Amino acid sequence: MKLLPGRMQVLGWLPDALVSVRGDDRGRALYLTFDDGPHGGCTPALLDLLRAYRACASFFLVGRNVERHPELVQRMVDEGHRLGNHSYTHPQFGRLSLAQQLEEIDVTDRLLARFDGVRRHRFRPPRGVFSLGLTAHFAARRRNLTYWSYNSMDYQRGDPVEFIARMRAAPPKAGEVILMHDDGDCAIRMLETLLGEWQAAGFQFCALPHARQTHAAPEQDVAVRSANPG
Ligand SMILES: [Zn+2]
Repeated sequence: MKLLPGRMQVLGWLPDALVSVRGDDRGRALYLTFDDGPHGGCTPALLDLLRAYRACASFFLVGRNVERHPELVQRMVDEGHRLGNHSYTHPQFGRLSLAQQLEEIDVTDRLLARFDGVRRHRFRPPRGVFSLGLTAHFAARRRNLTYWSYNSMDYQRGDPVEFIARMRAAPPKAGEVILMHDDGDCAIRMLETLLGEWQAAGFQFCALPHARQTHAAPEQDVAVRSANPG
Protein backbone atom coordinates (compact mmCIF):
# COMPACT_ATOMS: atom_id res chain seq x y z
CA MET A 1 0.00 0.00 0.00
CA LYS A 2 1.40 3.35 -1.03
CA LEU A 3 0.53 5.57 1.88
CA LEU A 4 1.70 8.73 0.21
CA PRO A 5 1.18 8.42 -3.54
CA GLY A 6 3.37 10.51 -5.83
CA ARG A 7 0.84 13.25 -6.33
CA MET A 8 0.45 13.70 -2.60
CA GLN A 9 4.20 13.84 -2.19
CA VAL A 10 4.30 16.75 -4.64
CA LEU A 11 1.47 18.52 -2.83
CA GLY A 12 3.42 18.02 0.40
CA TRP A 13 6.24 20.15 -1.04
CA LEU A 14 3.94 23.13 -1.51
CA PRO A 15 3.87 25.73 1.26
CA ASP A 16 1.23 25.28 3.92
CA ALA A 17 -0.26 28.60 2.89
CA LEU A 18 -1.38 26.92 -0.35
CA VAL A 19 -1.88 23.28 0.56
CA SER A 20 -1.76 21.61 3.93
CA VAL A 21 -1.18 17.87 4.16
CA ARG A 22 0.09 17.50 7.74
CA GLY A 23 -0.77 18.75 11.18
CA ASP A 24 1.35 19.82 14.12
CA ASP A 25 3.92 17.07 14.77
CA ARG A 26 5.45 18.52 17.93
CA GLY A 27 3.28 16.39 20.21
CA ARG A 28 1.71 12.99 19.70
CA ALA A 29 -1.30 14.12 17.69
CA LEU A 30 -2.93 12.13 14.93
CA TYR A 31 -5.54 13.87 12.81
CA LEU A 32 -8.32 11.53 11.74
CA THR A 33 -10.34 12.92 8.84
CA PHE A 34 -13.51 11.47 7.36
CA ASP A 35 -14.83 12.45 3.93
CA ASP A 36 -18.16 12.18 2.12
CA GLY A 37 -20.59 12.07 5.06
CA PRO A 38 -22.66 12.45 6.98
CA HIS A 39 -24.16 9.05 6.24
CA GLY A 40 -27.29 7.96 8.06
CA GLY A 41 -26.21 4.32 8.31
CA CYS A 42 -22.50 4.63 9.15
CA THR A 43 -21.77 7.97 10.79
CA PRO A 44 -23.64 7.31 14.08
CA ALA A 45 -21.58 4.16 14.78
CA LEU A 46 -18.39 6.05 13.97
CA LEU A 47 -19.33 8.85 16.35
CA ASP A 48 -20.07 6.26 19.05
CA LEU A 49 -16.63 4.72 18.52
CA LEU A 50 -14.83 8.06 18.61
CA ARG A 51 -16.67 9.00 21.78
CA ALA A 52 -15.64 5.74 23.45
CA TYR A 53 -11.99 6.68 22.87
CA ARG A 54 -12.48 10.40 23.59
CA ALA A 55 -11.18 10.95 20.10
CA CYS A 56 -11.75 14.14 18.15
CA ALA A 57 -11.73 14.15 14.37
CA SER A 58 -12.44 16.34 11.36
CA PHE A 59 -15.34 15.62 9.02
CA PHE A 60 -15.16 16.88 5.45
CA LEU A 61 -18.85 16.96 4.70
CA VAL A 62 -20.82 17.01 1.47
CA GLY A 63 -23.38 19.81 1.60
CA ARG A 64 -26.32 17.85 0.27
CA ASN A 65 -25.65 15.16 2.88
CA VAL A 66 -25.59 17.85 5.54
CA GLU A 67 -29.11 18.78 4.46
CA ARG A 68 -30.20 15.14 4.74
CA HIS A 69 -28.72 14.54 8.19
CA PRO A 70 -28.50 17.81 10.11
CA GLU A 71 -28.83 15.94 13.41
CA LEU A 72 -25.54 14.15 12.74
CA VAL A 73 -23.75 17.40 11.95
CA GLN A 74 -25.05 18.89 15.16
CA ARG A 75 -23.83 15.85 17.04
CA MET A 76 -20.35 16.24 15.52
CA VAL A 77 -20.17 19.82 16.75
CA ASP A 78 -21.57 18.92 20.18
CA GLU A 79 -19.00 16.15 20.60
CA GLY A 80 -16.00 18.32 19.78
CA HIS A 81 -15.34 17.38 16.17
CA ARG A 82 -14.52 19.92 13.48
CA LEU A 83 -16.47 20.45 10.29
CA GLY A 84 -14.76 20.71 6.93
CA ASN A 85 -16.11 21.51 3.48
CA HIS A 86 -16.05 18.80 0.80
CA SER A 87 -18.30 20.58 -1.77
CA TYR A 88 -22.07 20.49 -2.10
CA THR A 89 -22.61 17.62 -4.58
CA HIS A 90 -19.16 15.96 -4.71
CA PRO A 91 -18.77 16.57 -8.46
CA GLN A 92 -15.69 16.11 -10.61
CA PHE A 93 -14.09 19.48 -9.92
CA GLY A 94 -11.92 19.13 -13.01
CA ARG A 95 -15.06 19.39 -15.15
CA LEU A 96 -16.38 22.55 -13.49
CA SER A 97 -15.53 26.15 -14.17
CA LEU A 98 -13.87 28.04 -11.33
CA ALA A 99 -17.16 29.86 -10.74
CA GLN A 100 -19.01 26.56 -10.41
CA GLN A 101 -16.38 25.24 -8.03
CA LEU A 102 -16.68 28.32 -5.86
CA GLU A 103 -20.46 28.01 -5.82
CA GLU A 104 -20.15 24.41 -4.55
CA ILE A 105 -17.81 25.62 -1.82
CA ASP A 106 -19.75 28.73 -0.81
CA VAL A 107 -23.11 26.96 -0.53
CA THR A 108 -21.56 24.34 1.73
CA ASP A 109 -19.70 26.90 3.85
CA ARG A 110 -23.01 28.64 4.50
CA LEU A 111 -24.70 25.35 5.41
CA LEU A 112 -21.93 24.41 7.84
CA ALA A 113 -21.87 27.87 9.42
CA ARG A 114 -25.37 27.24 10.75
CA PHE A 115 -23.88 24.55 12.95
CA ASP A 116 -20.49 25.86 14.02
CA GLY A 117 -20.65 29.59 13.35
CA VAL A 118 -17.48 29.40 11.25
CA ARG A 119 -17.64 31.31 8.02
CA ARG A 120 -14.84 29.62 6.09
CA HIS A 121 -14.11 25.99 6.67
CA ARG A 122 -11.15 23.96 5.62
CA PHE A 123 -11.84 22.77 2.09
CA ARG A 124 -10.82 19.41 0.68
CA PRO A 125 -11.66 18.96 -3.03
CA PRO A 126 -13.73 15.91 -4.03
CA ARG A 127 -11.44 13.02 -4.98
CA GLY A 128 -8.50 15.21 -4.01
CA VAL A 129 -8.47 16.88 -7.42
CA PHE A 130 -5.81 19.56 -7.46
CA SER A 131 -6.41 22.67 -9.51
CA LEU A 132 -3.98 25.50 -9.90
CA GLY A 133 -6.85 27.93 -10.56
CA LEU A 134 -8.68 27.14 -7.34
CA THR A 135 -5.45 27.08 -5.34
CA ALA A 136 -4.47 30.50 -6.66
CA HIS A 137 -7.96 31.86 -5.97
CA PHE A 138 -7.79 30.55 -2.42
CA ALA A 139 -4.25 31.80 -1.88
CA ALA A 140 -5.27 35.30 -2.92
CA ARG A 141 -7.87 35.14 -0.16
CA ARG A 142 -5.42 33.70 2.37
CA ARG A 143 -7.11 30.35 2.28
CA ASN A 144 -5.54 26.94 1.70
CA LEU A 145 -6.62 23.51 0.53
CA THR A 146 -6.49 20.63 3.00
CA TYR A 147 -5.30 17.24 1.82
CA TRP A 148 -3.82 14.38 3.84
CA SER A 149 -0.47 12.74 4.48
CA TYR A 150 -1.64 9.19 5.19
CA ASN A 151 -4.16 7.43 2.98
CA SER A 152 -5.98 4.55 4.68
CA MET A 153 -7.30 3.39 1.27
CA ASP A 154 -10.56 2.53 3.01
CA TYR A 155 -12.51 3.53 -0.11
CA GLN A 156 -11.25 0.34 -1.74
CA ARG A 157 -13.63 -1.41 0.67
CA GLY A 158 -11.60 -4.58 1.02
CA ASP A 159 -11.16 -6.86 4.00
CA PRO A 160 -10.55 -4.65 7.07
CA VAL A 161 -8.20 -7.30 8.49
CA GLU A 162 -5.94 -6.78 5.51
CA PHE A 163 -6.11 -3.00 5.84
CA ILE A 164 -5.26 -3.23 9.53
CA ALA A 165 -2.26 -5.42 8.77
CA ARG A 166 -1.00 -2.92 6.19
CA MET A 167 -1.44 0.01 8.54
CA ARG A 168 0.36 -1.82 11.34
CA ALA A 169 3.23 -2.46 8.94
CA ALA A 170 3.49 1.26 8.12
CA PRO A 171 1.90 3.05 11.07
CA PRO A 172 1.17 6.79 10.98
CA LYS A 173 3.57 9.19 12.66
CA ALA A 174 2.82 12.19 14.85
CA GLY A 175 1.20 14.98 12.89
CA GLU A 176 -0.15 12.76 10.14
CA VAL A 177 -3.50 13.66 8.61
CA ILE A 178 -5.24 10.34 7.96
CA LEU A 179 -7.73 10.05 5.11
CA MET A 180 -10.79 7.91 5.82
CA HIS A 181 -14.46 7.91 4.85
CA ASP A 182 -17.69 7.59 6.79
CA ASP A 183 -20.01 6.64 3.94
CA GLY A 184 -19.03 2.99 4.45
CA ASP A 185 -18.09 0.88 7.47
CA CYS A 186 -14.52 -0.03 6.46
CA ALA A 187 -12.99 2.78 8.52
CA ILE A 188 -15.09 1.87 11.54
CA ARG A 189 -13.98 -1.74 11.39
CA MET A 190 -10.35 -0.71 11.11
CA LEU A 191 -10.57 1.83 13.90
CA GLU A 192 -12.28 -0.59 16.28
CA THR A 193 -8.89 -2.28 16.41
CA LEU A 194 -6.46 0.53 15.65
CA LEU A 195 -7.73 3.30 17.94
CA GLY A 196 -6.83 1.29 21.02
CA GLU A 197 -3.43 0.35 19.61
CA TRP A 198 -2.60 3.91 18.60
CA GLN A 199 -3.76 5.22 21.93
CA ALA A 200 -1.57 2.68 23.72
CA ALA A 201 1.32 3.94 21.59
CA GLY A 202 0.75 7.39 23.10
CA PHE A 203 -1.15 9.07 20.27
CA GLN A 204 -3.91 11.58 20.85
CA PHE A 205 -6.65 12.07 18.30
CA CYS A 206 -7.14 15.73 17.52
CA ALA A 207 -9.35 17.78 15.24
CA LEU A 208 -7.48 19.88 12.71
CA PRO A 209 -7.15 23.49 13.77
CA HIS A 210 -9.49 25.94 12.10
CA ALA A 211 -8.55 27.17 8.68
CA ARG A 212 -6.09 30.02 8.78
CA GLN A 213 -7.88 33.19 9.69
CA THR A 214 -7.67 36.11 7.35
CA HIS A 215 -7.05 39.43 8.94
CA ALA A 216 -7.96 41.39 5.86
CA ALA A 217 -11.15 43.40 5.85
CA PRO A 218 -13.87 43.29 4.76
CA GLU A 219 -14.36 39.58 5.34
CA GLN A 220 -14.08 37.78 8.64
CA ASP A 221 -13.66 34.03 8.83
CA VAL A 222 -15.43 33.38 12.06
CA ALA A 223 -18.94 34.63 12.48
CA VAL A 224 -20.67 35.07 15.78
CA ARG A 225 -22.12 31.76 16.86
CA SER A 226 -25.70 32.82 16.46
CA ALA A 227 -27.19 30.90 13.57
CA ASN A 228 -27.03 27.50 15.24
CA PRO A 229 -30.30 25.66 14.55
CA GLY A 230 -29.95 23.78 17.84
ZN1 LIG B 1 -14.87 12.58 -1.32
